[in-house]
Amino acid sequence: MNIRNVTVYCSSSNHAPRSYFESAEELGRGLALRGIGLVFGGGQVGLMGCVADAVMQHGGTVRGIIPRFLEAKEVAHYGISELHVVETMHERKMKLTEWGDAFVVLPGGFGTLDELMEIVTWKHLGHHRKPILLLNSNGFWDTLLSFFSRIADEGMVRPDHASYYSVCNTPEEVFGMLESAGAKTC
Ligand code: AMP
Repeated sequence: MNIRNVTVYCSSSNHAPRSYFESAEELGRGLALRGIGLVFGGGQVGLMGCVADAVMQHGGTVRGIIPRFLEAKEVAHYGISELHVVETMHERKMKLTEWGDAFVVLPGGFGTLDELMEIVTWKHLGHHRKPILLLNSNGFWDTLLSFFSRIADEGMVRPDHASYYSVCNTPEEVFGMLESAGAKTC
């Protein structure tokens, strides 16, 4: 599989730590410079808006998908290449999962966790084989990763659970993983 588009899941909060915004910006810039399109939730707020702005500022392509009821709340981003306003969260999530050739998950709250768990469980069920990369800024995902180990230790997921996702400490590592994922499956 060639990685042409990457779906990024991340926080809609403007109050996340500054360093997470810096990583989001670096990720967006790197996507644009590599000609990889961004697919995301379509909001202007939080890390979502930050990554989208960085892609646009560096001449990349951004497709956002936002449900109508969140258009005002998440301040839909009208300055991107394509904004798709859909009727339901399910429609949004379906497009987010279909349009990306890989998933990158930045720090976030309940929405991001829900999106992460969905793509992990769908991989577990064999619905897709796309790379899932967790950007572990400041060790953000460490607690969740130990919880994943616990549920594997207690026999509730297969011991190879960790093969469903990769953990990256920096945006540079994300790009390295994307390159090797693209090369492996070409
Ligand atoms: P959050 O991580 O909570 O800031 O949310 C990040 C994104 O996930 C935002 O675009 C939210 O609209 C979206 N979101 C919030 N709740 C859910 C949910 N239950 N399922 C899927 N996405 C959600």
